[in-house]
Amino acid sequence: MQPRSAAAAGRDFPYTSRTTCYIEISEGGTVSHGIDSGTYERARSGKSSLYAVWPGEWSSHLFVIDDLDEYARAHGIIHDQGRTGLAEHEHLVRWKLSPDETKPNASYVDIELELDCGCVIEDLRAFANQMRTQRGWDIATSGGWSSSTRQGHNTTYSLRARRKSLS
Ligand SMILES: [Zn+2]
Repeated sequence: MQPRSAAAAGRDFPYTSRTTCYIEISEGGTVSHGIDSGTYERARSGKSSLYAVWPGEWSSHLFVIDDLDEYARAHGIIHDQGRTGLAEHEHLVRWKLSPDETKPNASYVDIELELDCGCVIEDLRAFANQMRTQRGWDIATSGGWSSSTRQGHNTTYSLRARRKSLS
């Protein structure tokens, strides 16, 4: 069976879908299922080849992951401003405790946040990673978050964060 090209599918390829099954084949022919933190480097250096099965419409088809940069951007290994809405810079953040927070002394609190640097949060996990690096913030990525925009104002994001990490 000849694998299809994931690169040809471009951004439509479901790199991070839970139903996408990765298969990594090492130089020596060892087959392993799934990916780990070293998969990208091994594939990039030619120590292994990466394939994926895209179930659904293409259920019978195997894809070769031939655009490793796109794979890495999808998985956040390479930062992608287009995908995340976030530039790689120190964000200009304004924040306050949410006026709706009923437990302001709890370990996690609701905050309202605006970005004065022009970024938009499309990918909360990527933003949380950046804020952890930049300011030591611990933003919850498992729960819900929302954004609202009033005309003439920045978008306001409602997020949850560990209170003691905020500065
Ligand atoms: Zn920014």
